[in-house]
Amino acid sequence: MQPVSLLARRTLLSSKPAAGRISTITRHFSQTSLAMAPISKETDFLVIGGGSGGLASARAASSRYGAKAMVIEGKRLGGTCVNVGCVPKKVTFNAAAIAETIHQSKSYGFSVQETAPFDWTTFKQKRDAYIQRLNGIYERNLANDKVEYVHGWAKVISRNQVEITLDDGTKTVVNAKKILIAVGGNPTIPPQIPGSELGTNSDGFFDIDKLPKKVALVGAGYIAVEFAGMFNALGVETHLFIRHDTFLRAFDPMIQEGVTKEYERLGVKLHKRSLLSKVEKEEGTGRLTLHYKEGDGEGVVSDVDHLIWAVGRTPATQGLGLESAGVKLTETGHVAVDDYQNTNVENIYALGDVTGQVELTPVAIAAGRRLAARLFGPEQFRTARLDYSNIPSVVFAHPEVGSIGLTEPQAVEKYGRENLKIYKTNFTAMYYAMMDPEQKGPTAYKLICAGPEEKVVGLHIMGLGSGEMLQGFGVAVKMGATKADFDNCVAIHPTSAEELVTLR
Ligand SMILES: Cc1cc2nc3c(=O)[nH]c(=O)nc-3n(C[C@H](O)[C@H](O)[C@H](O)COP(=O)(O)OP(=O)(O)OC[C@H]3O[C@@H](n4cnc5c(N)ncnc54)[C@H](O)[C@@H]3O)c2cc1C
Repeated sequence: MQPVSLLARRTLLSSKPAAGRISTITRHFSQTSLAMAPISKETDFLVIGGGSGGLASARAASSRYGAKAMVIEGKRLGGTCVNVGCVPKKVTFNAAAIAETIHQSKSYGFSVQETAPFDWTTFKQKRDAYIQRLNGIYERNLANDKVEYVHGWAKVISRNQVEITLDDGTKTVVNAKKILIAVGGNPTIPPQIPGSELGTNSDGFFDIDKLPKKVALVGAGYIAVEFAGMFNALGVETHLFIRHDTFLRAFDPMIQEGVTKEYERLGVKLHKRSLLSKVEKEEGTGRLTLHYKEGDGEGVVSDVDHLIWAVGRTPATQGLGLESAGVKLTETGHVAVDDYQNTNVENIYALGDVTGQVELTPVAIAAGRRLAARLFGPEQFRTARLDYSNIPSVVFAHPEVGSIGLTEPQAVEKYGRENLKIYKTNFTAMYYAMMDPEQKGPTAYKLICAGPEEKVVGLHIMGLGSGEMLQGFGVAVKMGATKADFDNCVAIHPTSAEELVTLR
């Protein structure tokens, strides 16, 4: 397979090629004198979805185990994480962290003065350009690993056949020995209240091209919380509507309560126990007026530049033909899989967000690589699969949050309160020592230990640097570390992390 002619074919067919890619690809194209490689009619491994899981699986199958692999992607390579998820989100989080540091720097003796507001427009252009570079890198990686890449929309028509609708509308059918469904998910459509369509979703967050004055977000999951924290740190009046008293409700109560309290302290306008009832657009300005019910009362927020619904994600199974192939879905509409990513249909596998197991990029990648090893690798990988227990996860909130293992309520349910020992601490990180009280952020750590050997079954941290800190502790928890193992590790001083190995 000639990577150059594949690229050429994509340039012809792609309706929306990434701007940064055009010149290189077109140059290849003219050199090849319209020599387009036909799309293969047969393949060993046909992967639907060029996101985190699909790309990892196809590349491993081809480059490590010599399988003939093909990836079909309808939008942009890299999927949610690269284009409208982890990557542009973290870049924006970094901008927000710099804003915070600028404000804090005075306490350390700097006379930094902001002479203009944050230049969101330039920042967005640079962020977009970075993503486009990544799209190009992902495409080259596929070519280097000899994975055939087809830009188009795929539909399963039998357990060995997939129909692809190319960008020019033509259809082609590919026979595949094995099919992987790695189509991810989309933001859930908001509740049907009058004017809900005037809002956008997490994809739309990345299209905002001017620094807003006032925004409103609806949702209590990590996406809503991260976006709200970033807006607030960048000086935007931020309203967050949640249905209960706290957000991040899948996390340990210490995290839920700690971060919720800190957001209020930082000035996020939190509307607890609230529900939007109507959204209207103001004539002329185009700004939004939000009507809501909060507790027993009602309220209005006007002059809102953007309303962002972050009310969950829905698996992208619509129109995928799974019913005709007999692939079973769960009650939530995710593809049902066993421990090995097998669906109920032989030769059809699924992983990543579409299975609703643990919706994180490294999870999709790890599951994808293990599946490729199991299907195409040597004998020793016949039972390869991802162990979904003890997966660390981080929320880039203000402050950052890290979590692995069981929350306290989950541990109580599993082991019984009498078999648990909980170690907790909260303190002010040394970074804040030079600051006025109102500038000081919270730090809180919790270790949940079970049984007489005090095995660490849950670790929850909140505070500066928690994101980076968790990875190493994650290794220890995954290895089955006990409280004594933590204590045996000599502290690193002066850090916040040292508190985790000196808990009493
Ligand atoms: C705002 C946001 C922030 C996030 N932040 C983080 C984070 O910090 N850390 C983290 O680990 N995770 C994060 N995630 C989650 C992460 O992005 C996902 O878990 C991950 O992308 C899932 O990978 P996937 O391969 O399952 O699906 P995706 O990456 O969604 O890829 C699926 C691909 O399939 C394509 N597709 C769908 N249907 C078809 C079809 N019929 N034919 C062809 N192509 C099709 C889609 O266009 C898409 O490109 C975030 C998500 C969001 C929305």
